[in-house]
Amino acid sequence: RPVVRAQSPSDLTPDSKFYKVEAILRPWRIPQVSSALLKMGIRGVTVSDVRGFGAQGGSTERHAGSEFSEDKFVSKVKMEIVVSKEQVEEVIDKIIEEARTGEIGDGKIFLIPVSDVIRVRTGERGEKAERMTGGRSDMITTSPSI
Ligand code: ATP
Ligand code: GLN
Repeated sequence: RPVVRAQSPSDLTPDSKFYKVEAILRPWRIPQVSSALLKMGIRGVTVSDVRGFGAQGGSTERHAGSEFSEDKFVSKVKMEIVVSKEQVEEVIDKIIEEARTGEIGDGKIFLIPVSDVIRVRTGERGEKAERMTGGRSDMITTSPSI
């Protein structure tokens, strides 16, 4: 299976310390995506069952020739993952690697700047709230192989 990577953006705009990676994906690919993310130290993920249409739902609509009706919406899963700026590209590449079939309907990823992160339990904000015990930052800084 050929490796497809996100084409590197020259810069993320607007600039932010944190971004939300919002991925709309095929439901049956979610177990694979989430276990790969867990392996790379992503600990905080939110998923929702959603329905939508893109090229996949749209093609049947064009044949129908009338307004889209609600039963043309295709079931998807939305994954929301807030990460620090430095982790954005590796998370996106991992999602593509695990979710891609190459067929229409593989989904789309939106990148959204996040102003702040607040941990409810402690009231911590910013980097302290975004970092998670055993998370990617921990895995990299305590890596014994370096
Ligand atoms: P605590 O240390 O108090 O447990 P925590 O940072 O581990 O705090 P939780 O309170 O366990 O966070 O998280 C509650 C929910 O928030 C999770 O089930 C998940 O849906 C969502 N969540 C947490 N962190 C993230 C994140 N970085 N990105 C997306 N969703 C997150
Ligand atoms: N960036 C966090 C960390 O390295 C992990 C964020 C997340 O799991 N969504 O600990």
